[in-house]
Amino acid sequence: MKGNLHSHTTNSDGLLTPSQLVLLYKTGGYDFLSITDHDKLTDVESLEHEGIILLPGEEVSIGKLHLVAFNIKREIEAKDPEEVIKEAESQGGEVIVAHPYWSSLTIEDLENIKGCLGIEVYNATCEISVAKGYANVHWDILLSKGRITYGFAVDDIHAGGLIPYRRPSDAYKGWIMVKVKEKNSESLMESLRKGLFYSTMGPEIRGLQVEDEIIRVKSSPARVISFISRNGLGKRFFAYNKPLTEAAYVMKGSESYVRIEIEDEKGRRAWTNPIIIRGKE
Ligand SMILES: [Zn+2]
Ligand SMILES: [Zn+2]
Repeated sequence: MKGNLHSHTTNSDGLLTPSQLVLLYKTGGYDFLSITDHDKLTDVESLEHEGIILLPGEEVSIGKLHLVAFNIKREIEAKDPEEVIKEAESQGGEVIVAHPYWSSLTIEDLENIKGCLGIEVYNATCEISVAKGYANVHWDILLSKGRITYGFAVDDIHAGGLIPYRRPSDAYKGWIMVKVKEKNSESLMESLRKGLFYSTMGPEIRGLQVEDEIIRVKSSPARVISFISRNGLGKRFFAYNKPLTEAAYVMKGSESYVRIEIEDEKGRRAWTNPIIIRGKE
């Protein structure tokens, strides 16, 4: 299933109404969407949602820290990160940390947020507006410290390319592809909790296999395939005469984690979740 977990409407600072936003994502072939207005739960029950799963959500602000809560039932009252996460979980939801770079979050800030599902590794609107959309470094430091954290690509759509902003559209720029048993919200949430998804700005990850000491990945045509791990471990593969569509990495055993990034000719990236390596004792 294809989806975007972070979006805004006229109920906060977005330019599209909730129904316009849903129509936009349905037209884009999305299977699910979470509407996450600032400190407000937008009602999705009354919206036309045939063919798309709408997860009720909210972007909770605690100073510079923005937390995206989705699949919740009620507006979140808590104003402390741990309380927000607890409250969201008690409602059947999950929480991710929005745009760490844009928020100027330090690693200490991130380490203090316990129990969230992951961080936004790519936030399209933050990249388009102020060039602060990526959080690869934040992600790798957390992973190097042994914090199992998933990476999410999102649009955080506000304008959808409408005129007043005079910049490229922030629609359809970052999304996740989730492997589900069935196309419903229960199955979707179960897969998200297990990290059974990848994030992308366009490239497709067509296969991922771990066998003995080898990690193999298959993708849509790529310029670079990177296996990223802690410190100086990992490896990159560059396309020479023709684009790459697969690569393999032989693990040394001391990586602790490996995640894969694909980059296509246009500079668009895709990210797998980390593969956790227990190592040889
Ligand atoms: Zn935000
Ligand atoms: Zn937002």
